[in-house]
Order: sequence, then structure tokens, then C-alpha cells
Amino acid sequence: MPQEQKVQCTRCRNKHLYSERARAPSATISGVLDLVCPRCNCRSYYQLDADGKRTA
Ligand SMILES: [Zn+2]
Repeated sequence: MPQEQKVQCTRCRNKHLYSERARAPSATISGVLDLVCPRCNCRSYYQLDADGKRTA
């Protein structure tokens, strides 16, 4: 069973699962939804490995 991707917001440092990210209308492309941080709505995030460390 594949593990869910853990991510960390670059702005508020909130750690959450990729599937927990909120949807928000894209600022640049009309009609497209971006996945954003559920706490601060930031679009940038780090990918984390199973130990909570940043990858690449
Ligand atoms: Zn955030």
C-alpha cells in the first residue's frame, strides 16, 4: 500500500498530507483549482519523506 505524500508549507511550516491540501481557484489560470496549504493558503510546499525530512 503506497504511503501518502507528506508535505510542509514553506510559509507557515505546517506539516500535512498532500490529500489534506485545500482547493483554491488559481490566480493565473481561470477555472483551474490549485492545491494550497489548509492553514495559510500558501501554494508552495516542500515534499517530506517518511521521517518528515525534506526531499530534494
Ligand atoms: Zn501554510
